[in-house]
Amino acid sequence: MTTTVDARSASGTSTLDLGPARALSCRECGHQIPLAAEFACSECFGPLEVAYDFGRIRREDIEAGPKSIWRYRGLLPVPTDVQSHPNTEPGLTRLVRAERLGAALGLRNLWVKDDTGNPTHSFKDRVVAVALAAARKLGFTVLACPSTGNLANAVAAAAARAGWESVVLIPSSLERAKILTTAVYDGALIAVEGNYDDVNRLATQLAAEHEDWAFVNVNVRPYYAEGSKTLAYEVAEQLGWRLPGQIVVPVASGSQLTKVDKGFRELGELGLVEASPYKVFGAQATGCSPVSSAYKAGTDVVTPVRPDTIARSLAIGAPADGPYVLDTVRRTGGAVEDVTDEEVVAGIRLLARTEGIFAETAGGVTVATAKKLAESGKLDPDAETVLLITGDGLKTLDAVADQVGPRATVPPSAEAVIEALGR
Ligand SMILES: *Cc1c(COP(=O)(O)O)cnc(C)c1O
Ligand SMILES: [Zn+2]
Repeated sequence: MTTTVDARSASGTSTLDLGPARALSCRECGHQIPLAAEFACSECFGPLEVAYDFGRIRREDIEAGPKSIWRYRGLLPVPTDVQSHPNTEPGLTRLVRAERLGAALGLRNLWVKDDTGNPTHSFKDRVVAVALAAARKLGFTVLACPSTGNLANAVAAAAARAGWESVVLIPSSLERAKILTTAVYDGALIAVEGNYDDVNRLATQLAAEHEDWAFVNVNVRPYYAEGSKTLAYEVAEQLGWRLPGQIVVPVASGSQLTKVDKGFRELGELGLVEASPYKVFGAQATGCSPVSSAYKAGTDVVTPVRPDTIARSLAIGAPADGPYVLDTVRRTGGAVEDVTDEEVVAGIRLLARTEGIFAETAGGVTVATAKKLAESGKLDPDAETVLLITGDGLKTLDAVADQVGPRATVPPSAEAVIEALGR
């Protein structure tokens, strides 16, 4: 316990084993501080991120590691002996060759990274696992978050499995399925009368007042965010240790997109893949598209909006990493695009019809955005392309409920079935 107390008071890094993580570094001014539960720079209030001293990392060691995100623990801010329980950890979700979707979109070399296969059916299990592992070392005892839905599921479930208390704050307007699939884990779930940005503000205030609460995406955000790098590592490893030519990533706060880029860059720098060029594309719903609007206006300034879209998991009107998303897509030669709620539903149905994968609204955003980018020629039809499908359609059934259903309801007779089939 002494070590964790030392760590919390930021008195030094020597006793704190967070693997290769060496310090927290300001993304704006580069000021560095020892590893601690801090998220804003003391000099300029810029966001802090994890800086590393990577040892020699070999493909063989990764390949021989756990069949989960922990195979990449040498690249993450987690203890060297991070607990790995077979079959219960997130990661190593399937990368699916998507020929039929590719044909529909006019993309000849298409893959879908299907993150619905994680323990609570979204990519958020990755970031929460990393946040929890770091939070444990940093001396916290309660796992907390403000959430647009999937994070609530992931935090409540991870806390339950770890035997921790959880405090989860959600907008009261959230989809019923996401409320129930959080409440079932029996942590403290609080529905707040407000939108996500109100809930987030509340969390920041509570984090300052409750020293032992690890708000995964607030006061331990630098560690949490690194979990998204595992999407990039897996895509590269599953492609046979190669970077794709282009990748389409949904954008809420923008953290995932910037960390996918960071993950690809690290792999190149460490010699684990050839550092070939790739383009990163961001996907938003038009009803909450502050980053797409800024991209199209050619500005660096992301103006907050009031979200109004069925893609609630992406409905962050004031995205913390918005400016960094703009940097990333412009630097790599990508773009940000947005699609209407109607296109989102069409995207969900297209993915289901062509690949047998049922995605939530965020997945519909990604597919529909890829379609739009392909049609406008921004996506190269021949480049190896990956779409990140980050959440499961069972959580957002309402999105398709009034569009799909049985073709007919018939009496239990063979003729009636044949007749209904029109054969
Ligand atoms: C949270 C979330 C994202 C992206 O989150 P960022 O805040 O941009 O990192 C993408 N898809 C789903 C399904 C999510 O829940
Ligand atoms: Zn700074």
